[in-house]
Amino acid sequence: MENLYKKLPQMNEILNRYDENPVIVKDIANSVLDDYRAKIANKVDFETEDIYSDIDSMINSYTPYSLYNVINATGVILHTNLGRAVLSRKSLERIEKIGSSYSNLEYDVKKGARGSRYTHLVDIVKKLTGAEDALIVNNNAAAVFLVLNTFCQGKNALISRGELVEIGGSFRISEIMKKSGANIIEVGATNRTHLYDYENEIDDENLSAIVKVHKSNFQMVGYNESVDTKDLKELIADRDILLYEDLGSGSLIDLTPYGYSYEKTVGDCLNDGIDLVSFSCDKLIGGSQAGIIVGKKEYIAEMKKNQLLRAFRVDKLTLASVEATLIEYLDFETMKEENPTIRMITEDEDTTKKRCQKLLRKIQKIKDVDAEIIESEGKIGGGSYPLDIKKTYSIKISDPNITKLERQLRLSDYHIISTVHDGNLYLNALTIFDKQIDDIYETLKEYYEK
Ligand SMILES: *Cc1c(COP(=O)(O)O)cnc(C)c1O
Repeated sequence: MENLYKKLPQMNEILNRYDENPVIVKDIANSVLDDYRAKIANKVDFETEDIYSDIDSMINSYTPYSLYNVINATGVILHTNLGRAVLSRKSLERIEKIGSSYSNLEYDVKKGARGSRYTHLVDIVKKLTGAEDALIVNNNAAAVFLVLNTFCQGKNALISRGELVEIGGSFRISEIMKKSGANIIEVGATNRTHLYDYENEIDDENLSAIVKVHKSNFQMVGYNESVDTKDLKELIADRDILLYEDLGSGSLIDLTPYGYSYEKTVGDCLNDGIDLVSFSCDKLIGGSQAGIIVGKKEYIAEMKKNQLLRAFRVDKLTLASVEATLIEYLDFETMKEENPTIRMITEDEDTTKKRCQKLLRKIQKIKDVDAEIIESEGKIGGGSYPLDIKKTYSIKISDPNITKLERQLRLSDYHIISTVHDGNLYLNALTIFDKQIDDIYETLKEYYEK
């Protein structure tokens, strides 16, 4: 075999050949040359032009950004790995508007004096939940921490063993509670907690709170019992004990009309007598990442005095975006069309089917592709409605080299994230947007007809 090393071009030759930024060209060339050195080690033959063609294509698809869009063909709406909620146009417009000029972020225009960033969302949250007051922080994990640190540091807090939830990303509610300085007292058993389990601890002088964690990402079936909020409320009546619920995904509206099982809304929790409720803004709410705490004015005021709030402080762009999303709730019929997350959550199966058929008609124009529509399952995700499977439709593609197809779709310009099981590839139409149908078609066409 001839000396393959001679076929590797010199860096200078490569740099002379391209007009693009030499730093970028050099980076790309080095990674391509590494690939070819590996080929040489494995005694794989190649031509110098192959190297240039690889460099060409990497330069063509080069982006300086590490964060980019993907097409979610998994059918999981609030996909934590893929960025959870997709934002509405209005909320994006507000980010641009507030970010592109000065704003009254911490300025009271009426008084001509310093104001507070925490005033901005209060009115709309009150309207939507009936709460006395509200506070927004970076995410719900920060909300949980802030509540417990403010009210339970060095004190005892009761929580049912059935609610010591791990919520993904190995985030455990019990660990957060410990870090906040609260001393957790677990009550009940994993599957059953009774009122008397709480009653047994209620005379503890160092007791500061009863914490309820919504079992949003799993559900207990079979022999199980938990205690109703109203009974807990009665139990702590006349005592200086906080009743707090971490609602997790926290919906503002009842989703039963859309085929989901009943889950308490934020407003329902407050009506049941919970003093403070916290929830995420980028799960069922359909907004950007944030956490909102709602409830009694005196408690919210207490948390605002906690120095830690500064570490959990939301950015103005978050405020701009979340405010717009919450305002959309005032007209839910319009929101169902304009907020992509809410649209997908409430979409009826016929609409999904039509989108799937449209995609199939396109794909069938491609030579040699073996595709059909099948009924499949979609999920809300983000730890919401764990047992509720949404009936959806997917394109099933059969191919002798499914691993290669999956990889090519993922690494293509549109970064299509599909699922593979039973040796087939699936594109779930629930989370694919209409405007992405052509992109998927182009990508598949390139794969099959190249
Ligand atoms: C998702 C979730 C959290 C964390 O919320 P983030 O906004 O992701 O920080 C906390 N508790 C429960 C029950 C959750 O489901």
